[in-house]
Amino acid sequence: MIDLNHGSGAGPSAASNRDASLPMNALIDWACIEESRLDYQQRGSGKGAVAYKRIGAGYIGTKCERELAYRFHKYPKDASTEGDYPEGQLKRHASAGFWTEAKTVDWLRLAGFNITTHQTNPDGTPLMENGKPKQWGFMSAPLPNGQFQLAGEVDGVIVGKPERLPPGMPAEVEKWLGVMEVPCIWESKKGTHKKYQKFVKDGVKGGDERYWAQINTTMAYMGIKAYLFSMLDLDTMQYYWEYGSVDIAFAQEVSDRAVRVIASKSPDEFQRVARDPSSWLCRFCDYRSHCRAEEAPTQVAAPGWMKMGAQA
Ligand code: SF4
Repeated sequence: MIDLNHGSGAGPSAASNRDASLPMNALIDWACIEESRLDYQQRGSGKGAVAYKRIGAGYIGTKCERELAYRFHKYPKDASTEGDYPEGQLKRHASAGFWTEAKTVDWLRLAGFNITTHQTNPDGTPLMENGKPKQWGFMSAPLPNGQFQLAGEVDGVIVGKPERLPPGMPAEVEKWLGVMEVPCIWESKKGTHKKYQKFVKDGVKGGDERYWAQINTTMAYMGIKAYLFSMLDLDTMQYYWEYGSVDIAFAQEVSDRAVRVIASKSPDEFQRVARDPSSWLCRFCDYRSHCRAEEAPTQVAAPGWMKMGAQA
């Protein structure tokens, strides 16, 4: 017998399994939030070349201009929409996105693609901004202080394709590599199996208009004609890949929308995208309470002669 009591002579201890989720989650949530707070302290909004009030490519495709204006003018988000996920969980979702991005870069390089993810100085050293290597992207709509109000970053730019193929590759691989043009921007996303299936069925354009706008405006501003999109299904670890070319007319439309919002003084300058607050167009809006509060009819006290039982 192997003495698992290490000679202590103590009798068998009763198993006392317990659910440690509550205390452990509290600690991990705190750690995730603290990590993000420290990162924000270093890189915080408005500290670099991008202005505090700006429109990022990730939101440029917001369908409702009024919603985009609430975001641009820094109105606080509704607690109800943010409350769907606790803050620690949201931070971990973001981290899963960063992990997906980093691992996909590793795997792309291993497969023979030449991909650049960050800018470099003329001597080849990383170009730093607010203590972190600077990603590729674009900036536009400058302010007199030199900061920009419209900006977007891209996860990578593919500048080279595999030169030699491993033996046994399907014929489609060589054919596909012949079609693929470089440079080509690369955008990485992750999702649940349900989300992945939607992208397989509808492509990026039908899957999420905000992603579609992000990709097209980034391509248009950077002057790159092709994109490669990847979505990793975190339930099954399958990828959806999509390759395509820039839709300049759509990029222009979306960019014009952003410029109108940047030039505005208030969200009230924009029409509501739907009359009915329960419309699906408003369902995921973070600013519903602001938007609808402003249209609530003002309660005016009834004059005495209108009161029940009053005699004329
Ligand atoms: S509630 Fe609807 S109309 Fe109002 S800002 Fe949001 S999306 Fe636009």
